[in-house]
Amino acid sequence: MKNYTKILNKLWTEKDTTPATTINPPVYKGSTVLFNNYGDMLKAGNHSYEGITYGTDRLPTQRQFEETMRQLEGAAITRIFQSGISAIQTALLTFTKSGDHILVCDNAYGPGQRFCKQILKKFGVSFTLIPPNVGADIEQYIKPETVLILLESPGSITFEIQDIPVISAIAAAKNIVTVLDNTWATPLYMKPFALGVDVSIHSVTKYISGYSDVLAGTVSVNEKYAQTFDRFYKQMEIYTPGEECSLALRGLHSLATRLEQHEQSALTIAQWLETLPLIDTVIHPALPSHPEHHLWQRDFTGSSGLFAFTFKKDYTPTELAACIDSLELFGLGYSWGGYKSLLTAGVIKRTIPSRYENKVIIRLNIGLEACNDLIEDLENGFHNLS
Ligand SMILES: *Cc1c(COP(=O)(O)O)cnc(C)c1O
Repeated sequence: MKNYTKILNKLWTEKDTTPATTINPPVYKGSTVLFNNYGDMLKAGNHSYEGITYGTDRLPTQRQFEETMRQLEGAAITRIFQSGISAIQTALLTFTKSGDHILVCDNAYGPGQRFCKQILKKFGVSFTLIPPNVGADIEQYIKPETVLILLESPGSITFEIQDIPVISAIAAAKNIVTVLDNTWATPLYMKPFALGVDVSIHSVTKYISGYSDVLAGTVSVNEKYAQTFDRFYKQMEIYTPGEECSLALRGLHSLATRLEQHEQSALTIAQWLETLPLIDTVIHPALPSHPEHHLWQRDFTGSSGLFAFTFKKDYTPTELAACIDSLELFGLGYSWGGYKSLLTAGVIKRTIPSRYENKVIIRLNIGLEACNDLIEDLENGFHNLS
């Protein structure tokens, strides 16, 4: 059956296959994109071709997700990455060069900080860690060679909030690029560009995709730096598979509804925890007891389902294990933003001592399970602590 290649060939030469309009757009997956004719190929060669030239030139599924995110964020340009950390790394590489200095909030995502320490340093870019609740005092850390400030507000373990409008205004006056990791609030609960930020980053892995089965990230950039970023992204030829873009796009359809539930359950559980005698601090920006609650009220329109707490007593790892391992609904694992409730616990070692220095921080990702069941589960777990 040698002529079966002709049958296969007909699949893409035949234009009359019956079209179907599915609710979700088709998923484009591909390296090669075929030109209609040699003339188009020649145009592509001298960069005058309007169409898509190759898989890394961003296929339609990728472009659809990016355009939706761009509009949600109010950005000039949005690009997708294979992970949130890849988005952070590329944003940092875009706006720095040898001899530059950057400022990094001490509560920023750990692997991002390690990238500064181990990779950027190799290329002659130095960095200084700044307090996670920094505001106007950022002035004292800025050097003549400072070109970028990396913020994360609230931080995803200790939840300090930065005074974004004040920092952005100071930075803009000195042409310093402000980069904000906005993963906790999602594009729905905080609008970084309205607060003067230049670059907004999301780990799409979290709430946006929502089901703990996608790794992706986005970088969105304002008009001022859009062209610089666009060129860098093109040069890097980053490819995010169509399936991941499609799942991320699908996640956006239920994001608002999911977030409402995450928010409500997390607040209910946080308020309940505050009433318990064994709890020391509940660390949740939407609680009036949070040190930067006023900034959250001013700059955010909602809260998500990730928060933390500390115990009054310093339990031993064995005591904590008895409590944590007895939980039935909370999984133990990294990442967050999905429908399943998760827990992480540990002591955070910071360069600048945190408010919770030497305390075990229990972080909860409140999922979409029934809130009462989650409370009951935690209550049962706490019975193992004395
Ligand atoms: C998880 C996370 C990231 C990294 O995202 P990945 O997609 O897991 O690489 C970045 N920033 C914050 C705040 C995160 O929680």
